[in-house]
Amino acid sequence: MARMRSSAEIREGFLSFFEEKGHLRRPSASLVPRSDDRSTLLTTAGMQPQMPYFLGRETPPGPLTTTAQKCFRTPDIDEVGLDTFHLTFFEMLGNFSFGQYFKEGAIEYATEFVQNRLGFDWDRIWVSVHAGDPELKLGPDQVAIDLWEKIGMPPERIVPLPTSENFWHVGGPGPCGPDSELYYDFGEAAGCGEADCQPGCTRCERFLEFWNLVFMAYELHADGTLTDLPKQNVDTGLGLERTARIVQGVPSVYDTDGYQTIMQWVAANSGVAYGDSTDATKAHRVLADHGRGMTFLVGDGITPSNEGRGYVLRRIIRRAAQHGMRIGMQPPFLAGLSDAVIEQMGGAYPELVEHRREIHTVLSAEEERFGETLERGMKLFEEAAAHGEITGDDAFTLQATYGFPIELTQELARERGLGVNDEEFTKLMEGHREISRQTSGAKVDIRFPGSRKTEFVGYERMEVLTAIVAYADLGDGLFQAKLEQSPFYPAGGGQVSDTGTIEKDDGTRADLVEVLRLESDQELVFRGTGFAEGDRVKAVVPRSVRFPTMANHTATHLLHECLREVLGEHVKQAGSAVRPDKLRFDFTHPQALSAEERADVERRVNERVFANLPVRIFETPIDEARKLGAMMLFGEKYGDIVRVVDIDGWSVELCGGTHVRSTAEIGPFVILGEASVGAGSRRIEAVTAGEAFALLEERAREAEELRAELGRARKETKKPEAAAQYAITDRVDGVVFAETSDLQPGPLRDLSDRIRQQEKADGAIVSSITDDRVHFVVNLAESIGVDAAALANEMGQIVGGRGGGKPTLAQAGGNKLDAIPQAIAAGKQAFA
Ligand SMILES: [Zn+2]
Ligand SMILES: [Zn+2]
Repeated sequence: MARMRSSAEIREGFLSFFEEKGHLRRPSASLVPRSDDRSTLLTTAGMQPQMPYFLGRETPPGPLTTTAQKCFRTPDIDEVGLDTFHLTFFEMLGNFSFGQYFKEGAIEYATEFVQNRLGFDWDRIWVSVHAGDPELKLGPDQVAIDLWEKIGMPPERIVPLPTSENFWHVGGPGPCGPDSELYYDFGEAAGCGEADCQPGCTRCERFLEFWNLVFMAYELHADGTLTDLPKQNVDTGLGLERTARIVQGVPSVYDTDGYQTIMQWVAANSGVAYGDSTDATKAHRVLADHGRGMTFLVGDGITPSNEGRGYVLRRIIRRAAQHGMRIGMQPPFLAGLSDAVIEQMGGAYPELVEHRREIHTVLSAEEERFGETLERGMKLFEEAAAHGEITGDDAFTLQATYGFPIELTQELARERGLGVNDEEFTKLMEGHREISRQTSGAKVDIRFPGSRKTEFVGYERMEVLTAIVAYADLGDGLFQAKLEQSPFYPAGGGQVSDTGTIEKDDGTRADLVEVLRLESDQELVFRGTGFAEGDRVKAVVPRSVRFPTMANHTATHLLHECLREVLGEHVKQAGSAVRPDKLRFDFTHPQALSAEERADVERRVNERVFANLPVRIFETPIDEARKLGAMMLFGEKYGDIVRVVDIDGWSVELCGGTHVRSTAEIGPFVILGEASVGAGSRRIEAVTAGEAFALLEERAREAEELRAELGRARKETKKPEAAAQYAITDRVDGVVFAETSDLQPGPLRDLSDRIRQQEKADGAIVSSITDDRVHFVVNLAESIGVDAAALANEMGQIVGGRGGGKPTLAQAGGNKLDAIPQAIAAGKQAFA
């Protein structure tokens, strides 16, 4: 048997070895965990996507499976680059047995693979087993010890370790069991020399754990007791990067072949070789690891933001950009870095090749955004550093104004041996969040795991007589519940959750506050009292909510196809928000639409509406849908059976949303505006049906008034006062950013009202330069939850002045005109 050498050979060798042993090879699951898995932000282990099978909630695709899983660990981000082994992104190879073989099979397969396929020197392999635990009423794992001895492992290389090391559980009640880990011994010279040096030694790195075999035998209950699982399962995880390091006999994971294309690219583009200096070594490692991480995260549909997964992505992009520039790389270079990653990994992960364009767009846009402020931010950092300490205020300004994630500031400070006042920073940050973001009530999480699945009837009906099958009081007049049948659509595929009510016979009512989507199930949060488990209720989505949502969703599909007709096939959906009052559609396109293009798109959509095309919806295997040429959306996860929305064979998309039955129901379609959302992406907002009619009516009335005014003006032979002109520069989350000129604060306020009305925006931030001074007006609906006065003041200070006003309408001014972009960026940050 040929020995495996390269990372690709190890990956393929592992998967085909287990295929030979009857395992079904499955593709890697997404780095975004399933919506019913809230244990981690990102997938951290190969077994994580298998949990529904181990828990018995779903049937596995086969009794034996094997995968190479993309994994990402967030706690390690700041450690990457400092040593030879920390990684955020890595690959885990695994074999899984659902009620088939147990300890014996797992140990035999592992031994055969290590001896015959990896060709490791058996004398260098040690294993650990569970030492037992009186609290769990378990003795040492004698079965595993006997099996290892039987297969030829000398007893002195079988090391019992405590529960903290060798007992696997989900972190609470659930399946669990002892595990057994395989270690590679780098020899005495690599060790600490102490008599008790063995696997698990914390003083040295002589022993490297590379494979963990988990024997899932028990269920852990809330009271701490164990019972036997009905079926015993096996899951294993072999770290690909570590194994490659051993096979290739290199000193670190970064020296394995799996990073070489990327490292060479870094060396060629910086002119600095790996190992040239401490800075170079660190930068190479950071770019190699984060380059892989960012490429895979974007490849799975994640985009940078200030929260959750998006923030993880933002941190590694900005950290990589900063380290790249430090060794002389000229931005923009992240798209090039991602190409090196795709070259290295695209063979095993074709989704990277498929989404190359989106990966480039997202990375370049974020790099550009960061680049705009990096230099000024570094200047501020150096000034602060010169005072010997980074105050909380400095750290706050760096984050809020210059987009330096706090972790980056901390890292820069650490490198100079300086402290950061974290406490003060946290306090300022909390204050800032309170001003700029409205937190929507109670923290909502799954409360009824393992309960009966709710039947979703919302595709056919807006009203159903049903029963509450699970109930939990959340306090503050809120409760969480499950219904036997539900008409409520849970947010997904760009469409927002329905709103609605449940009502008992006696008239007791509760309003729906939130719908939690759980893969193919849902839980609901209501505001109201007087309900209990077992109650019969009428669940209703008002037609006034659902119908316009359906019209907007179907219109979104028409818009998508018409954009492709007018602008070209490169147009790809990059996000959408379908709400009852309007629709928003983001797409890839390099420049603004011309007035003609915009009018052409609008006209084509309306023609499709007037043609009254039938909308056909059906479910089919994914391969059939591909044959139909169905549009698959970037960043969406699809099951084996998909739902197809087919509009007269002309627009065919996979979609789980609610739609009208024929396009005429959409009524008029009117584009509200078109704007940039980062490099290479555009956004269109539009209205349909009743909203569109109201808008058209309003426009007609305004035109009528204008005509009347013009008439009067002519009679008086006086020039009418022309309405101020303005240009929309951006839209962020329903807030329009616009500029005009030569307007004093008073007329500027009137203009901001007019812009909000004309653009149907929840808010408008308008700037005007007059007499070498800039004025801002911040005009926001209360529902946005951002304090206009605080925001105006923040923007005013940036331009060297101040601001204030009411929570919904405020103004600011200053004379530092070159700081205007920065002030506007700070304004956008409040809504991003
Ligand atoms: Zn040691
Ligand atoms: Zn759709």
